Amino acid sequence: MITINDVSKVYGRGEKAIVALDAVNLEVPQGEIFGVLGESGAGKSTLIRCVNLLERPSSGSIVVNEQEITSLSGPALRKARQRIGMIFQHFNLLSSRTIAENVAFPLEVMGYNRAQRQERVKELLALVGLENRARAYPAQLSGGQKQRVGIARALAGKPDVLLSDEATSALDPQTTLSILELLQDLNQRMGLTILLITHEMGVVKQICHRVAILEAGKVVEQGRVSDLAAQP
Ligand code: ADP
Ligand code: ADP
Repeated sequence: MITINDVSKVYGRGEKAIVALDAVNLEVPQGEIFGVLGESGAGKSTLIRCVNLLERPSSGSIVVNEQEITSLSGPALRKARQRIGMIFQHFNLLSSRTIAENVAFPLEVMGYNRAQRQERVKELLALVGLENRARAYPAQLSGGQKQRVGIARALAGKPDVLLSDEATSALDPQTTLSILELLQDLNQRMGLTILLITHEMGVVKQICHRVAILEAGKVVEQGRVSDLAAQP
């Protein structure tokens, strides 16, 4: 579960300061898919980068599974990062490495030995339906397959939460649907908590249990998707 308490993020100083997040409060329950919906510039990427510890909020706190993460540094920070998986709009795969090597990469960093890596990579590729493509290179895969690799890599270290930054924005509608179904399946089968950001209401309606709407750095609405859908 993720709790975001009064988080603000200001870029720059003085007259040029940009308030990217303005006292944001969110609660992502364990085992749910939570969507943050907003237009370009609303602050979605900033929010997800704060949860992923790529960015520090200017104020406020973020708690992931009972651990306050914004004040961490050094080894504790690296350890906390491993508890959080992330997938990206443009997949961020290493083009000179095979699919198996891409998925094994975080495992290497976490200290898995060779045999453990091989076994875990096999499991992960099976989980995303790519067991036959282990030796292929990213350039040989379709967009949807690349995102499956991204998902396998993100789940390598058995994270508590998966963060998704516009993970289907570069995909066609049919491929988008298959990736959303995979995320939904992982949520249902493993109880994976997912925090995703998107500019598409369709994504929210398809898989999210809850949604927060972000406008100019502020949460203007938050609730269960079924309740929002019931409004005229
Ligand atoms: P998105 O809306 O998907 O975040 P952008 O093109 O706005 O994509 O941003 C891409 C990257 O550039 C992000 O990592 C963001 O932090 C950074 N960025 C966005 N706006 C600015 C800015 N005004 N100054 C510096 N970096 C920025
Ligand atoms: P979104 O992901 O919803 O498009 P962002 O979080 O990328 O929104 O951006 C929110 C605001 O913060 C925008 O005005 C953007 O230009 C600004 N911004 C984002 N990253 C940076 C950065 N690294 N430096 C300065 N301004 C930034």
